[in-house]
Parts: sequence; C-alpha cells; structure tokens
Amino acid sequence: MEDKIELLNRWIEEADNIVFFGGAGVSTESGIPDFRSVDGLYNQQYKYPPESIISRSFFQSNPLEFYRFYRDRMIYDEAKPNSAHKMLARLESIGKLKCVITQNIDGLHQMAGSKNVIELHGSIHRNYCMRCHRFYDLAYIENSEGVPYCECGGIVKPDVVLYEECLNEDDLKKAVEYISNADMLIVGGTSLGVYPAAGLIDYYSKDKIVLINKSATPYDGRANLLINDSIGQVFSKLRV
Ligand SMILES: [Zn+2]
Repeated sequence: MEDKIELLNRWIEEADNIVFFGGAGVSTESGIPDFRSVDGLYNQQYKYPPESIISRSFFQSNPLEFYRFYRDRMIYDEAKPNSAHKMLARLESIGKLKCVITQNIDGLHQMAGSKNVIELHGSIHRNYCMRCHRFYDLAYIENSEGVPYCECGGIVKPDVVLYEECLNEDDLKKAVEYISNADMLIVGGTSLGVYPAAGLIDYYSKDKIVLINKSATPYDGRANLLINDSIGQVFSKLRV
C-alpha cells in the first residue's frame, strides 16, 4: 500500500492537468450514506422503494411523499467536507487540478473550496419553481413544511436529477472535454456501475488513471494504479 501511495504522490507532483471523478464514497466519510451500498439508503425500510420515490413520475404524482423522503434521507445539512474534499480543493488552488466531476448532490466540494465542480446529478442547494423558475435555496426547502410552493403557486423542485430524467447536456459535454484533455484522471469513491460514470471514463486516453475505491469495480483492469481503500484515507496521506 505504501508503494502505491508513493507512486500516487509522484504522479501528482509531475501532473498539471488532473481531473477528479467521484461518487458517493467521497461523501461517506462525511457521514452521508451511500445510496447503493449494502447498508445504505436502499436497504432501509420505507413505504415505497427509494428508487421509485426518487423518480420524476413519483415526484409529479406524490410530491408530499417525495419531500418526506427527500428531507429525511437526502439532505444532510450538518455534513462537513472530509480530507478528500479538502485535498481536491487544495490541488485546484495550486493549479494541478482542473476540475472535479461529481455524482454527489451535497455541495461538499464547494464547501471545501473547490471552484470548478461539475455536479452531474445536480445539487440540494439549488431549487426552482416548476412554473416561473424562480430560485430557492436549501433553507427554503428545510424551513417549509410538506410540499414547498413558490409565491406564484408553482411547486418548487430540487435541481437534482431524478430517475427518468436526463443529465444536463452541457455538463456532460464539459465533463467529456475535461476528461479527454486530462493528463491524469483520479476516479474515487464510485463503483462505476451507474450511468454515465463508466462511459465518461472511456474518454480518457492516457496512461495515468488512478482508481481509488473500497470495493472492486468493473473498471479495475483499466486502472494504471488501483488502490482499494477509502478515498479519505488515501488523500490524507498525500504530500501536497
Ligand atoms: Zn414560481
């Protein structure tokens, strides 16, 4: 393991165009449960399966139940950035890292100081009226009861990509561009099982793909450096 950390340190020292692609595992050490892990959200008892609740059609037909689940299980407003978030912000500030691409919706990268963050699945911090598109912050959702409404009478919806919804095309395009141009791609805290994670990684064509994940992924064979450990643990050992 120490050899691998040493190699990672050396690659980071040499690199000046690093792109990070991360998933739920980046936030688990901040106390946010992984949606898809064995002991995570999806196996907890609820009235409907979470996959159903977090879908566009469910939101439209039963916004009250959606919001009950959403406030309980998807908003973790006490969570703080961990050593992975902080290290990524630091790598950006010293000019080595160009972009964080995340599947998380918690906003912890920005809280840690990252500036260029592509949030493929949206963010709990942005909410919009479905009728007039007026913006509402997270506090508005937390301080309202039941279904949050806009002043105009429209329903306020989180800017979070639900099942049955498409990812933002501009975000995807930007992510592809950053990954294509990267000299080093660090992939962390994701099992790479969810669209479009695996597809995006295919756009990287050089020979420094670092995969950091606790468990095996279908892309382990693609990694030039494979580290089976938690991303927070690994990043806390970096020298920069
Ligand atoms: Zn409105």
